[in-house]
Amino acid sequence: MTEPSEAHARVDALVDQVGVVAAGGQLGVAALLYTYQCTIACRHCCFGCATDRPHAHMSTPQAVGHLHALHELGRVIHIAGGECMMYWDDLRSVLEQAHAERVEPHFIETNCSFATDDAVVAERLDVLEANGVVGLLMSADPYHQAFVPPERFLRVRRMARERFGPENVWCAGGSDDEVSDLVSIGADEARLREYVRAHPPRMVGTAHRKLRQYLDAVPVDRIPPGHGWRFAHDGSDCGVEFDAERIWEVHIDPYNNVQTNCGVILGNTDSIGLAEVMARGPANANFVTKLLAEGGPVALAEYARDKHGFIIPSEVVSKCDLCYNVRKFLRPFHPEILGPAEVY
Ligand code: SF4
Ligand code: SF4
Repeated sequence: MTEPSEAHARVDALVDQVGVVAAGGQLGVAALLYTYQCTIACRHCCFGCATDRPHAHMSTPQAVGHLHALHELGRVIHIAGGECMMYWDDLRSVLEQAHAERVEPHFIETNCSFATDDAVVAERLDVLEANGVVGLLMSADPYHQAFVPPERFLRVRRMARERFGPENVWCAGGSDDEVSDLVSIGADEARLREYVRAHPPRMVGTAHRKLRQYLDAVPVDRIPPGHGWRFAHDGSDCGVEFDAERIWEVHIDPYNNVQTNCGVILGNTDSIGLAEVMARGPANANFVTKLLAEGGPVALAEYARDKHGFIIPSEVVSKCDLCYNVRKFLRPFHPEILGPAEVY
């Protein structure tokens, strides 16, 4: 067993001091995107995860190797998906080996679909705790609760808070009644429309296919700057999404892609290390990241028009709407940057 590196130890110390939620907010997060397969198919999913995606998920050596690299980023580390808990036996093997090598993730992300009773939740929290995991992230909103009964989320929230402390449980803080009401919001067209407009998701992946109709279109030369995954944008560019310090989340997926929330690949660890990807700067990964970082989706659309005949729409609902449209168009020309297939 080796001691954690200095960068890793600094993050652990902050997590100990303030908890997973505050430390993640301060440092940003990085994750294994363990699989694109999911137990459900939320309408806002930025990666297009769903029940019919390939059953590709990481092997234990692959996952543990990536955890070593992720811990060098000075970020709070987690395992996400898709739904990583659906491969529970394999995930447990990853956690045991990661613990043996002192590269445990700080937290695990789940949609709570597994939480059919208290016994199964207690058993899984036991495994997490025994293997050095200190927190959990659970989702609750009208999209998840269209599939996962609210009582499963509420069960995990209650038991995880008891186990890890509220400072280590990253989830919706609404009352039990408010969480239960999410089902009726998702089932009522008028309320869902109001919800989407009040909390617009980034219109990529499944969100682009299933939610963009709830937003108003604007002329393409008057798209508002919008809000990215962590920070508000202040212009037409997307520089904050490709800045090593400010990018909200960095993932490695089951195909070894260094994947962003936007669905633009920064490199593949078969040919370049994660540390090198981050040191050269996400914006410098390839021509797509450069164009998006400097000029946003309009710059990418103009490139696609000039090079491949893309027809720029006259109206879009947001920057991400235009971006996803043009990236889908460009994907056949650059599948190593605009992929994998699950995301498009
Ligand atoms: S948002 Fe999460 S739970 Fe929902 S489909 Fe995507 S990966 Fe699955
Ligand atoms: S416009 Fe594209 S690059 Fe910018 S935040 Fe949206 S998806 Fe990401």
